[in-house]
Amino acid sequence: MPGVYISYPFCAQKCTYCNFASGVFPAELEARYLAALKTEIANHCWQWMPETVYIGGGTPSNLDPCTLASLLDFVPNRPWIEATLEAAPGSITAEKANAWVKCGFNRASLGAQSFVEREVRGAGRKHTAATVAADVAALRHAGFGSINIDLIAGLANQTEAGWRESLDWIERLAPEHVSVYMLEVDEESRLGSEILLGGKRYGASSAPSDEMTADLYELAVERLASLGIERYEISNFSRPGFESRHNLKYWRHERYVGFGSDAHSFDGSLRSQNPEAPDEYLRATREEGTPVNAAEEKLFVGLRLSEGVNLLHEDWIRFEAPIRRFAGIGLLAINGANVRLTARGVLLSNEVFQEFLL
Ligand code: SF4
Repeated sequence: MPGVYISYPFCAQKCTYCNFASGVFPAELEARYLAALKTEIANHCWQWMPETVYIGGGTPSNLDPCTLASLLDFVPNRPWIEATLEAAPGSITAEKANAWVKCGFNRASLGAQSFVEREVRGAGRKHTAATVAADVAALRHAGFGSINIDLIAGLANQTEAGWRESLDWIERLAPEHVSVYMLEVDEESRLGSEILLGGKRYGASSAPSDEMTADLYELAVERLASLGIERYEISNFSRPGFESRHNLKYWRHERYVGFGSDAHSFDGSLRSQNPEAPDEYLRATREEGTPVNAAEEKLFVGLRLSEGVNLLHEDWIRFEAPIRRFAGIGLLAINGANVRLTARGVLLSNEVFQEFLL
């Protein structure tokens, strides 16, 4: 059963590490965006019933709950098996959390990134560990049975002691799911750009090296496993049965439809994408779907999963040489028709993926 993604790219601030097409935009643009988003969802011709809904961004938890509910009114098949709302710490109240449950949400994803004040401030965020704890309590009280907390390794001012402190908070708050991202160092974020090009504004010189970021990630893998929160995808960890059903659709190469700016859709053979920036989204229409190379994509996205990917005979014929080469240097493990990244392969996954994309 396919999934639905809704994009709300508006935020109260632009975080230094963020390389998404999201940020602070004029209120007038937001109003027009919401109207266009509603129209796009309402006009969609549903050829199947969705089982998962995910509203991300951006900071959709900043939306007035009635507005949020009115977007979901156009998505059929409520109650969905899984409906996730991305939320920023400090944007949750008991009233909002209750309203979210009422309109069908049963999973929340909290973009904490860190529980350490100097890291949080360095990232341009305002919350504290107590804010996140209060948010989790409000979500639990409203009935959210599945909570994710995001962490980022590689932030400015981050130390091993700070990272351990964030992991201590994970233990204390006991979420069902944790996402651990290694900072993507590219020119799309202010911190990434400063790391690459130099500068002093965003604390690039206090950010951990690539090697240390990888060590912090490994530390999280071990600590989370000791808490019963196991890795099932490169950046995603959960207690058994609490994997993100929606995100699994991306990695298992299943169908989904996306609404709003920068939203992607895949109908099983064609992939399409809406314009990236909110103002472009208001001007342009969804691009024509382009056929995907099914074998290449299946391998590329499936390798992200700890379970790996099962290859058909024809896929083997096509990819056998690079698979055997990576297996030879310990980055891939082969078991019959199944191929998966090894623990070392996870850390060097971009190198492996690049080979299959070419
Ligand atoms: S990290 Fe989240 S809250 Fe911060 S700018 Fe990016 S989308 Fe907005």
